[in-house]
Amino acid sequence: MYYNGDMRMMAEALENLDELRKALGELWPVAKGSLSLVRKPCVRPNCKACASGERHPVWLFSFRQAGRRRCMYVPAQLVPTLRRAIENGRKLEALMVDAGAALVRERRDEGAPPPRECAVKC
Ligand SMILES: [Zn+2]
Repeated sequence: MYYNGDMRMMAEALENLDELRKALGELWPVAKGSLSLVRKPCVRPNCKACASGERHPVWLFSFRQAGRRRCMYVPAQLVPTLRRAIENGRKLEALMVDAGAALVRERRDEGAPPPRECAVKC
């Protein structure tokens, strides 16, 4: 199954854990971050592109790792794959939210009965 369109429709379509687990397997590769095209100067002396101020287009992948903002150069041929990975990452995050709700919904009746009322307002 591949998802197109609205995330909420996707969430409503997948209400049980088995469906969610199956969907997870199709979300590969995954990535979290953003892709941007910037212009950088090069190291060549007397470069016309740099002298004119035009410089050179470079793809950058920006992301957070252990709380620190990082970025990496991305070769042009990797851009379509990385775009797909970032999109898959968004879908994966939405599925994780759904999976938590589905897990509780499906298994809350196991074991000890829950208190009559939830202690927090939800
Ligand atoms: Zn240059």
